[in-house]
Amino acid sequence: SNPKISFIGLGNMGAPMALNLLKAGMQVCVFDLMPQAVAKLVEQGASGAASVLEVVKDADVVISMLPAGKHVEALYLGSEQHGGLISVLAKNCLVIDSSTIDAATAQKVGKALATQGLRFIDAPVSGGVGGATAGTLTFIVGGEQQDYQDALPVLQLMGKNIFHAGALGAGQVAKICNNMLLSVLMVGTSEALQLAIDNGLDPKVVSDIMLQSSGRNWTLELYNPCPDVMPNVPSSKAYQGGFMVDLMKKDLGLAMDTAVKSQSSTPMGSLAQSLYAMHSLQGNGQLDFSSIFSMFSKHSNK
Ligand code: NAD
Repeated sequence: SNPKISFIGLGNMGAPMALNLLKAGMQVCVFDLMPQAVAKLVEQGASGAASVLEVVKDADVVISMLPAGKHVEALYLGSEQHGGLISVLAKNCLVIDSSTIDAATAQKVGKALATQGLRFIDAPVSGGVGGATAGTLTFIVGGEQQDYQDALPVLQLMGKNIFHAGALGAGQVAKICNNMLLSVLMVGTSEALQLAIDNGLDPKVVSDIMLQSSGRNWTLELYNPCPDVMPNVPSSKAYQGGFMVDLMKKDLGLAMDTAVKSQSSTPMGSLAQSLYAMHSLQGNGQLDFSSIFSMFSKHSNK
């Protein structure tokens, strides 16, 4: 029979992910600190819980989708306010944390749960709210092979591409490597487009040229940062929706922390982090991350 799933954290990402589990006919019990978020999912067929202890009752699988590492650690290992799920989950329960957090916290939580016979994988996602809604997320998993195998059928109901990156924490490392590279591509594409505009070129024409040349990259293919080059992307909708500057800033902070720990050299990532931090300070934290383009266009003479 189908596993009983508990879903904790029903924000921008968690709510549509939980909904896809329901649509697939799964039994899902949900919890969020915001009662409205729980009520919405209950309307769509979930059973709702009034507390975090209630939501995990009889759970075979627990999925969490929370903002940051401190929330994940407090949920599972406990905080001053409450004891963690570590002391209430049934033996052999499979815990899937899909939040984007630091690898060290993922490893700490996973190791602690293992001492109680509980299984944990880190499974951060790529694909944004659009991917969460469409059920086409990419899951990047760190943990034991057997736990990855057991999680697959559930992850496949919410995502399309599911990777096993390596041991505990490896999912988080792979995820922030990707986002660091993405930020570098976004900044580089933005300055190149503005350079072309400043020299009298049409950004649409130069985008087409670069797409068929060696500067081709994901941002030019699917997410052009210059307004009105592409329809239906955040840059053509006043940078609304999409992936927030402040979330990119958070991921770059995680990437830089990781680089310090492993003594890796990441000059491009470090520069991108500074630029995104400045962009956020200038009041753009809630805009889509492609709005970094305006940092170049505003200071241009054209
Ligand atoms: P969000 O802020 O919209 O949602 C987080 C939810 O968690 C909120 O509803 C909040 O009330 C709830 N919450 C916090 N602490 C809780 C607790 N102790 N118990 C129960 N509920 C709790 O965030 P989001 O956009 O859904 O992102 C979640 C995670 O996914 C983040 O780590 C983010 O970096 C990552 N992520 C987001 C995107 C995106 O495009 N939004 C894409 C990929 C990954």
